[in-house]
Amino acid sequence: MDFRVGFGYDSHRFAPGRPLVIGGIVIPYELGLAAHSDGDVLIHAVCDALLGAAGLKDIGTYFPDTDPAYKNADSTLLLSKVVDLVSEKGFVVNNLDCTLVLEKPKMKPHIDAIVARLSELLRCDSERVAVKAKTNEKMGFTGAGEGIAAVAAVTLRTL
Ligand code: MG
Repeated sequence: MDFRVGFGYDSHRFAPGRPLVIGGIVIPYELGLAAHSDGDVLIHAVCDALLGAAGLKDIGTYFPDTDPAYKNADSTLLLSKVVDLVSEKGFVVNNLDCTLVLEKPKMKPHIDAIVARLSELLRCDSERVAVKAKTNEKMGFTGAGEGIAAVAAVTLRTL
């Protein structure tokens, strides 16, 4: 059995007048995230982790932010395409572990819904998906509430 590890990172700045979408779930909040796509920072980090694990290139290679096709794109569709690319290489998702870094909003009420959505998109059992959120103790851009960062680690295995 072949076994791969991938790591992903993303960050986006808060912006008014946009829905806040994290892990494919719309989170009630007064700000969204600025991006060419819907700005789903968690899904973007997960995509890069998957692509990296499969030895592929980064998310911007497959979904360039200069392409009008991806304007306000639903990032869950991008993740589905990434899972297709990974499965074309012969891999399935073994597990995902990820962490959001943000001061606000509180993510605890939304974690279970995000886990359910991500496991569906990753085509794996929800017990193989972990989503955590923490503050940055008021340090740096996340601590100042300027935006949200996400990191993701994924393992892939061959069937
Ligand atoms: Mg991004």
